[in-house]
Amino acid sequence: MSDQPPTTDKASPSATLGRVAFELERQLALTLAPGLYLVATPIGHLADMTLRAIATLARADIVYCEDTRHSRTLLAHYAIRAPLRPYHEHNAEEQRPRVLDDLAAGKRVALISDAGTPLVSDPGFKLVRDATAEGHAVIAIPGPSAALAALSVAGLPTDAFFFAGFLPAKEGARRTRIAELALIPATLVIFEAPTRIAASLADLAAGLGNRDAALARELTKLHEDVRRAPLASLAESCVTDPPKGEMVIVVAPPGESEVSDASIEESLATALASLSIRDAARVVADSLKVPRGRVYDLALALKRRDQD
Ligand code: SAM
Repeated sequence: MSDQPPTTDKASPSATLGRVAFELERQLALTLAPGLYLVATPIGHLADMTLRAIATLARADIVYCEDTRHSRTLLAHYAIRAPLRPYHEHNAEEQRPRVLDDLAAGKRVALISDAGTPLVSDPGFKLVRDATAEGHAVIAIPGPSAALAALSVAGLPTDAFFFAGFLPAKEGARRTRIAELALIPATLVIFEAPTRIAASLADLAAGLGNRDAALARELTKLHEDVRRAPLASLAESCVTDPPKGEMVIVVAPPGESEVSDASIEESLATALASLSIRDAARVVADSLKVPRGRVYDLALALKRRDQD
């Protein structure tokens, strides 16, 4: 065996390191113009900071964030010493004029959230609206966002999607909202908390039909996991195996997620244990909103397979 390192056409790690250091150094040396910088930060993995995000925060005069203690950890990881000030849903009204004063004084102001892209189910919209109205530059430094990360791994159509944020916590309001979402001809992307996930998935299955869906959990983190199944099965799995951590629900558009034979057979197996073929087919067809004839044929085939 040769004691030479194996030859490879991949760039060597040190060459990559050199290029990355060169690019970061170049970014750090550029003058940062005054304005409001909306900087995306990791949704879990600290290495998901872009070079522009690092260079922008390093050169900012002030960084506004939701939780100064939380964001200090991120900034310390990259040895960034910009002063941190809180801007969150409870102090935004009183802080906004201060941020606008900073901008009027020609400062380079960054806005970050606890995770991901600021303004996406996070504070900042009114600040951006007022800053642009006063003629200040507003610049996006794009990067991670849980909504897009979940959409990309879901395995569902991506040509048109609707980001619905969080569903209402109260059952009545949630069902009303789901009835509105049922009409939208696009993949749905929904944030949800672990405490409500089983109830929300069950309500989604009832209100949208048993569409294909995905539950993307703890993306970019140690326990990252994606469950892909029709809504009713996902709801059931959240009862038997309650998921922890941060999660996003992605639901296929109406009509495009043909209920698969496998999910019909899954429901039939339970129904046939106590009902005749005809009744089981009727119950399953009604609950999955698929034609009875199709379910009846699958039930017959299932029975035949069982008898073989
Ligand atoms: N602005 C953030 C973004 O762009 O990703 C979203 C903020 S919102 C307040 C927080 C929600 O995002 C969580 O409740 C969860 O639904 C989702 N989320 C955040 N990090 C996540 C992760 N690593 N994996 C899955 N979902 C995540």
